[in-house]
Amino acid sequence: MQFRYQFRVYPTPGQQIELARAFGCARVVFNDGLRLRQQAREAGGKYLSDGELSRRLITEAKRTPERAWLGEVSAVVLQQALADLNTAYRNFFASVTGKRKGRKLAAPRFRSRKDNRQAIRFTKNSRFKVLDNGRLRLPKIGDLTVRWSRTLPSDPSSVTVIRDAAGRYFASFVVQTAEDEMLPPVDAEVGIDLGLTHFAVLSDGTKVTTPKFLRRAARKLRRLQQDLSRKQRGSANRKKAVVKVARAHARVADTRRDWQHKLSTRIIRDNQAVYVEDLAVAGLGRTRLAKSVHDAGWARFIAMLEYKAARYGRAFGRVDRWFPSTRMCSDCGRIGEKMALNVREWDCPCGTVHDRDVNAAKNILAVGQADRLNDRGAQVRPAFVPAPRREAVTHPDVALSTRSVEGISVL
Ligand SMILES: [Zn+2]
Repeated sequence: MQFRYQFRVYPTPGQQIELARAFGCARVVFNDGLRLRQQAREAGGKYLSDGELSRRLITEAKRTPERAWLGEVSAVVLQQALADLNTAYRNFFASVTGKRKGRKLAAPRFRSRKDNRQAIRFTKNSRFKVLDNGRLRLPKIGDLTVRWSRTLPSDPSSVTVIRDAAGRYFASFVVQTAEDEMLPPVDAEVGIDLGLTHFAVLSDGTKVTTPKFLRRAARKLRRLQQDLSRKQRGSANRKKAVVKVARAHARVADTRRDWQHKLSTRIIRDNQAVYVEDLAVAGLGRTRLAKSVHDAGWARFIAMLEYKAARYGRAFGRVDRWFPSTRMCSDCGRIGEKMALNVREWDCPCGTVHDRDVNAAKNILAVGQADRLNDRGAQVRPAFVPAPRREAVTHPDVALSTRSVEGISVL
């Protein structure tokens, strides 16, 4: 599997100038390529091949007075800028023809020096190197100081240098990892419910709240944003406020990501299998729940769980939320009445008192386990036994299978 490892880097003022030059050259080559392809299309010509683009915009352009300065940066950086353009085109075509699923992609757009994120990529053949003294050597840039927060598991195949809106620099390494990272197996399995009152609720009863320091930082960010909106357009004070907001924003994002990393690592370490709701977050985003869901960064958290599960040898499953996870009793399978959002606890006629969210998480766990069993063994071919809708089934396993809710029991 491929993983990204990102670290903060601290270029000297001189290196910052070299980096700015490289960002600029990469941007120019990218834009030249886009313009050339657009012109060819308008003229009714053929789509320019990747090879031809590279020949005309890098090799030949360097010999012209207008583009001679392209020779001052690593050629790999320029080639990678064209590679980005080619990928953008391929994704766009695949999206137009329907080969690529999901949201429709727009055609590639010109890059601007005002873009929030400037980036260049060095591949292996650029001979970038992590030196023994911990510095990162980049061709035609120099040796950069890196803040290593962990060690790279193996030799990186590429490094992308990024400058963000807050003026910070990062090195993002791509590393191929080996299979030897498997964690020792454990017995526990867990279901996770997206809480609206909590960040997450686990089937073992754990309720995870967004930490106070994060909420405080988010409040501060909102205040800075309000300050910014009161500043006059084009004023020096406004410029200062923009940087302040960008810094605060970056800080909140970093802190939140760190916290989510710790939480996801702990859940993966403690459980052999993790099941989550397959929320169509994009769909949910259109409702009034949008703010809380996006604030909580739920989608990214799930993505962390998924890749960590793959990496450490754990099972991960998404559960379709077409069963009423909240009002189905995780003990007896009865389906209760619809509940208002403010109902946090309910009693089932079977005698169980449920915490609304923990009950939902338990159902997610059970459905995830049933799905996994069905996927895995041919011996568990579902025998479709019709059962009346809403019937209270006594065997807990049957009761908890999703299909029994639809009136069909699987076991
Ligand atoms: Zn019950």
